Amino acid sequence: MKFVGAHVSAAGGVENAVIRAHELQATAFALFTKNQRQWHAAPLSSESIDKFKQACETYGYHSGQILPHDSYLINLGHPEAPELEKSRAAFLDEMQRCEQLGLTLLNFHPGSDLRKISVDECLSRIAQSINITLDKTKGVTAVIENTAGQGSNLGYKFEHLAAIIDQVEDKSRVGVCIDTCHAFAAGYDLRTDKACDETFSEFDKIVGFKYLRGMHLNDAKSELASHVDRHNSLGLGNIGKDAFSYIMRDSRFNNIPLILETINPDIWAEEIAWLKSQQ
Ligand SMILES: [Zn+2]
Ligand SMILES: [Zn+2]
Repeated sequence: MKFVGAHVSAAGGVENAVIRAHELQATAFALFTKNQRQWHAAPLSSESIDKFKQACETYGYHSGQILPHDSYLINLGHPEAPELEKSRAAFLDEMQRCEQLGLTLLNFHPGSDLRKISVDECLSRIAQSINITLDKTKGVTAVIENTAGQGSNLGYKFEHLAAIIDQVEDKSRVGVCIDTCHAFAAGYDLRTDKACDETFSEFDKIVGFKYLRGMHLNDAKSELASHVDRHNSLGLGNIGKDAFSYIMRDSRFNNIPLILETINPDIWAEEIAWLKSQQ
């Protein structure tokens, strides 16, 4: 079974994200459970939690179809202690919000070395951050997203993801989300079936499909290996539609949320319908 949707707005309350996903005829969705550009947010009200759970039941979404994304401010590999603490506290809050909503996945960007510590040291800090958080929470898997490698962001090589997973103690609660735009910008070609075969066999060899918990389906305005993170609508960028058709036909991508973060929400319903038609 393929679960397809988009990263929908939670404006007006997390429960509204569920309704927006349903309106798109999505079978998966992503959301922010708090404002992604602020450190602090009011706790979720019990009313909002109940409405969210009720809406999920009404519209038929279970937790395996929902991929919440954490705040962009969090850097779990921060080189400096006070900022690292601040990020770890915010990440714990994000995980706890997922627990409250009955969600089982939390998607996040691994972190940045800010060119002040080595790559290996930063990857170890990220793994430690995950260990600390998993110790304090239950039932939520930490889902590391690959990045384009823009600036000093780590996670643009499959080896980075593998190194983090390797240092996480509870392997049952760590996974990865592959963003196609980020992978392409990081140098992994996806433009043909053959290129997809090669990229995903490399992913399987280095990370392993057993850790794949979600995908972000985005075409790219940026060039291959440019390390520039610029999303585009499916078929309108440098990757092209074949990659997305390939993913829809391949059973290795079954039963995980496949999420659009494409740039034109007005055509999300169309993009979702097209993806479904490719199976
Ligand atoms: Zn992301
Ligand atoms: Zn993404």
